[in-house]
Amino acid sequence: MSDTLDKSLYTLPSDQPIVGLEVKSAFDGLTDKEKKYAHFLSKASWVGGLVTMIQTSLESGPIFVLLHKLFSKQSCKDFKDVCLEKGFSEEDINALLIYTCGVFANAGNYKGFGDTKIIPNIECTTFENLIRVSSVWSELEPIWSQIKSDVYNLEKSKRCLGCNPEGCTTYLSKNCTKEDNETVTNWVKSKDLELWNTRLFKSTTEDGKVEYEIRLASKEAKELKKETVGNITYRLTSGDYSPLMSKIAEHLQQTVSYAANETQQKMLESYISSFTSGSLDEHKNGSRFWIKDKSPAVENYIGFIETYRDPTGVRGEFEGFVAVVNREMSAKFNTLVSEAEKFLPLLPWNKNFEKDKFLKPDFTSLDVLTFAGSGIPAGINIPNYDDIRQTEGFKNVSLGNVIPASYQATVSPFLSEADGELLQKYRIPAFELQVGLHELLGHGSGKLLKKERNGTFNFPSDLVDPLTGEVVSSYYESSDTYDSKFGSLSSAYEECRAEAVGLYLSLEPSVLKIFGHEGEEAEHIVYVNWLSLVYAGAGRGLEMWAPGRGWLQAHSQARFVLAQVLIQAGVVKVTQPTKDDLLVTLDKTQIRGAGRNAIGHFLLQLQTYKATGNIKAAEKLFNHYSEVKEPWLSWRSIVLAKKQPRKIFVQSNTFIDNEKVTLKSYENNAEGLINSWVERFDEPDILYKALLDLSKKDAHHFA
Ligand code: ZN
Repeated sequence: MSDTLDKSLYTLPSDQPIVGLEVKSAFDGLTDKEKKYAHFLSKASWVGGLVTMIQTSLESGPIFVLLHKLFSKQSCKDFKDVCLEKGFSEEDINALLIYTCGVFANAGNYKGFGDTKIIPNIECTTFENLIRVSSVWSELEPIWSQIKSDVYNLEKSKRCLGCNPEGCTTYLSKNCTKEDNETVTNWVKSKDLELWNTRLFKSTTEDGKVEYEIRLASKEAKELKKETVGNITYRLTSGDYSPLMSKIAEHLQQTVSYAANETQQKMLESYISSFTSGSLDEHKNGSRFWIKDKSPAVENYIGFIETYRDPTGVRGEFEGFVAVVNREMSAKFNTLVSEAEKFLPLLPWNKNFEKDKFLKPDFTSLDVLTFAGSGIPAGINIPNYDDIRQTEGFKNVSLGNVIPASYQATVSPFLSEADGELLQKYRIPAFELQVGLHELLGHGSGKLLKKERNGTFNFPSDLVDPLTGEVVSSYYESSDTYDSKFGSLSSAYEECRAEAVGLYLSLEPSVLKIFGHEGEEAEHIVYVNWLSLVYAGAGRGLEMWAPGRGWLQAHSQARFVLAQVLIQAGVVKVTQPTKDDLLVTLDKTQIRGAGRNAIGHFLLQLQTYKATGNIKAAEKLFNHYSEVKEPWLSWRSIVLAKKQPRKIFVQSNTFIDNEKVTLKSYENNAEGLINSWVERFDEPDILYKALLDLSKKDAHHFA
């Protein structure tokens, strides 16, 4: 290993932010039956998260067992006390705890976002000396001796996930090349199969014969198909992760009797069947029922979903989540919808540019109770099966408590101390207000001017374009859609329109009142709503822009654009007080004057160009404000230098006592996170054995 390797790229910082994922208020709003449904689904998801460990690296399962056992047999606090007594420093103990959190939260020893390896931030001998203190060291020792070199291995191929030799993976055996993967993909296609829930293992004999085992994830272990073509034999088998898949199916079976309706029941039965036999078709059937299960109180999805981490991009990583409707928040959103007809006329366009009747966009705020897998997104759009998405549909699931959770324990660079404090205090209620306005009146407002199939127009022939004062001359043909016309511009442009509606309508006292804000508090909320958007755009936005690649994220681009509009209006200022710092300020006294005017005019432009399908003008306007030039180009390094580490979320557990489901939350620190994991599984010994056996079983494929 080279001496110059920067190890800090592979360790988590000692002040790693660990925050709580608050779900109590939403969970308390569920009925007993819904709570049970959520409880057993969570159980199934958490066991599934152990499958993700195996998909991450060969050593992840045993590392998990080692650390989980360590803190299960002796409380975290006890262990810390004994270590301190023996003379270990707080710092060393903390490094062990942070590493443990990293492995638990990322489902293994590679980062869920970024795919780089995580090693402990202490020397190997210190790590070993620490765990030797454990009262169960004799049980840990055989596991430790098996994995200790893997835990610290930073050879080039081990630094990141990927195909051998640039990286490592367990989706394909080490001897597989991209060509092998292609050969197998072609064979699989010819059999009308797909690879989502599989892994690939290649064996070769001395006389040059090759065998590919395509192994489906399932409880049952069988040989399903065998075909030899020339020197190549293809074997389709089932039984990958068998003991874990069996447990997942068992927990789903416990869930069935608490389903809210027949659709949920059939969905669960299809999933059980898929996880038992390995049938992908059954998982697709489950997904079909899932799409039809509209706005459930308890939402979930479970299976082999996202393909980011298979280096060849075709196999899914296990993911299981349970999210529950936030009835309190939904009530506010519903009031907003029912009064939409009152608020829409306040927007800066006339009624000819608004739909005849407000159509409520499909949006429910759900809070995550359980998210098992390598990381928690703020929203997902699934299923990923193209054949279902194109013809049968998909659902957009917005996970309402994820972003507010990430706001906790945040330091805010680039803001004055007073603004930082206000942001901390009012950011979450301001965010709720902005989300409601953005999703419902933002995406829900505005009309597309269209020539219908029968040749008539859905707008008056003498309609005047409010920007030019001339009669409208461009519109959508009957076969056009917004996405087809706006193409690559469509999502950032529409996000910008929705964010601008949020800023604009958040100034209305009657809107603020729906969210429970009046008087002086309402003024703070308005200020913080505008400030946090400006901060996200001008202060942090460039984290999501890269030279040569442009904007990587639609929302960040949208906020950067709005910040530029407000800078131009003189309401926002960004300065560089020192060489490596920026200061973003928003002039509070100008929000309702110049600020409102600038956003109002910009919003009118966005809406008019969208309504008339005027992509040329839209592009010109939007690209002008999205462009990253000096001084922003030079400021980008300052922004990146102050980028905050990705947060680790502490999730709650549910328990059944006397037929009642209770929710237990934990402290928002390393100890709390570890305790939550320790109390998560009913029969950890069975799971330990499964993880250790599975790691041994396939070890030769990755040696
Ligand atoms: Zn949006």
